[in-house]
Amino acid sequence: MGKVPTKLVSWDDVVEWSRGLAIKIKESNYRPDVIIAVARGGFVPARLLCDFLNVENLISIQSQHWTEAAKAADKAIIKFAYELDLSGKKALLVDDIVDTGESLMLARDFIMKHWKPAELRIAALQWISPVAKLKPDYYYIEVTEWVWFQYPWTRLEDTFQFLKRMLSEESKYKAEWSYDEIVKKFYEWYEIDVGETYFKDAIKMLIEEGILELRNNKYYYKSS
Ligand code: AMP
Repeated sequence: MGKVPTKLVSWDDVVEWSRGLAIKIKESNYRPDVIIAVARGGFVPARLLCDFLNVENLISIQSQHWTEAAKAADKAIIKFAYELDLSGKKALLVDDIVDTGESLMLARDFIMKHWKPAELRIAALQWISPVAKLKPDYYYIEVTEWVWFQYPWTRLEDTFQFLKRMLSEESKYKAEWSYDEIVKKFYEWYEIDVGETYFKDAIKMLIEEGILELRNNKYYYKSS
């Protein structure tokens, strides 16, 4: 997998979008008793919605589909299928983005079957309308062209994965890299600036994982 269109999302964006989403939910007069965050992407938006909607009950379900940046697994799975009684409760299931919609559909079906809330609605900060198999009841932004949103809570893991992909491809043509050359190439590929701290931490991880080697201030990609 090569270059992917990517957009950087800031913490400020996340707060603004979550607040906007909360306003839409409030305007619809839905008052959830409990918020269910889809792990892991829904955690931060769900916590912010608790604040903006004045909801005290926050629980989670881990439905996993995309295991690394911009790379979907074949099938979504519920990772810890525990039992819970939500009868009589109005619930709100929250995720960051509806892309294929697979992980949310799986979570929704599991919750309705096993946790049995009185009502379940779905909210996401973003909804990629041309590809999603599910339209959330509430969304803040409709995305009409697919991109990978680089959210602040996956900044390190995405930078790591993106660097790994870029270096595995580019190292076919260039064996020896300086730090600045890596940063410049990353910018050419992804057109986002994740900042020096994340670059340095991601490069350190690549070395720890045995993917990069550092010798005399130069980096070498080690193909496996
Ligand atoms: P999906 O099941 O395809 O709707 O996506 C499951 C999860 O993967 C989402 O809740 C996000 O955490 C992550 N994800 C999927 N697509 C994107 C994207 N385009 N940008 C950022 N994160 C994504």
